[in-house]
Amino acid sequence: MTDHPAWYSVGSQHAWLPYTQMKTAPAPLPVVKTEGVRITLADGRELIDGIASWWASAHGYNHPHILKAMQDQMLAMPHVMFGGLVNQPALRLCTRLAGLLPGDLNRCFIAESGSVSVEVAMKMAVQYFLNRGEQRFKFVHFRGGYHGDTLGTMAVCDPEEGMHSHFGPLLRHHLPADLPHNEKSAAAFAEDLAGNPHVAAVIVEPLVQGAGGMLFHSAETLRWLRAACDHAGVLLILDEIFTGFYRTGHMFACQEAGIVPDIVTLSKALSGGVSPLSVAVARDHVFDAFYDDDPAKALMHGPTYMGHALGCAAANASLDLFEREDYGPRVAAIAGQLEAELAPCRTLANVKDVRVKGAIGVVQLKDASGLQALKPRFVEAGVWIRPFRDIVYLTPSLTIAPDELSVLTGAINKVLSEA
Ligand SMILES: *Cc1c(COP(=O)(O)O)cnc(C)c1O
Repeated sequence: MTDHPAWYSVGSQHAWLPYTQMKTAPAPLPVVKTEGVRITLADGRELIDGIASWWASAHGYNHPHILKAMQDQMLAMPHVMFGGLVNQPALRLCTRLAGLLPGDLNRCFIAESGSVSVEVAMKMAVQYFLNRGEQRFKFVHFRGGYHGDTLGTMAVCDPEEGMHSHFGPLLRHHLPADLPHNEKSAAAFAEDLAGNPHVAAVIVEPLVQGAGGMLFHSAETLRWLRAACDHAGVLLILDEIFTGFYRTGHMFACQEAGIVPDIVTLSKALSGGVSPLSVAVARDHVFDAFYDDDPAKALMHGPTYMGHALGCAAANASLDLFEREDYGPRVAAIAGQLEAELAPCRTLANVKDVRVKGAIGVVQLKDASGLQALKPRFVEAGVWIRPFRDIVYLTPSLTIAPDELSVLTGAINKVLSEA
């Protein structure tokens, strides 16, 4: 502790940390530098990052192409308001996302955080129906889901287990459901949905429910949801904030299912993990419901930092990398290595499941009571891995080298087998 810098000791008295019981939580580690997949601590130790800053740092830290684009943009114009004014990086980003996303997902609303993009998507869905003369204020969402920490998004997270369960009475627009896993439950889901005239949209994280515990479902489940929404005349919102940009193997998870949502939300890896930036992208028919001579039919939303030029420059550079690097094959290689190197965990008495999807590796425990105590062991092993709920997981940068990934999987095998 004595070698902590002064900014740490003084500042720690004034900062409020995320998802943290400030009284009992172990002290956070002071970081002074990042590079590639490495985090350098103030005392000079280096950790290999298994999480890529909540999976945002998809190209590794300090990627020179992104930093250069940001430097150039910063000198010209870091930010100018998006109301009545537009800027080239923002419009270029909209154009490119419309081209990359499937179908007619053509209208991009640029915000700052993932949660806000989900709020915007939810507002779009409700007003879509209002503008057509229908009052639909409810959202169907799924157990295990996570869509953000703001009031609107909390309502559509997992209702019981979620980190937001305290706030139930505040949140009235939610209708929790179980994800359909077979024809029978899919048919029941579709019937329930069609029978409820109050639902504006179904919201789901496609293929992987991330913060809910890295729970996987099949592409078929997504096709059932799409069909149920079509049948009921309800919008489908896919929250690809975690799954987007190759995390599950395709550029977007919805491409594996071959479906097009009515609205999709993106963030995290969108900017390559360097700038707060998010986007809610709507299909033409959604946008058309707002396009009218009546000012009351406009979407009334506009974050101060909307269309942030610096963030959009970072995102354009990040898209350059997603377009030109071979991330598909790279993610397949990461998946293969995760499968092979996490497999030995299956033999441990306390391990319930080992699963891999794209660049996501998960070891789920039977008894998670000792899991939090393992956090310092990972740091001692030279890696940054943060178990939560009942899982130890890896969501590394997509640029991680095989030997670096082996250090991460080796640490998991070692720490869990010693526990
Ligand atoms: C991280 C995340 C969010 C929230 O994004 P913030 O930028 O933290 O507000 C929403 N949905 C999913 C699927 C996420 O992974």
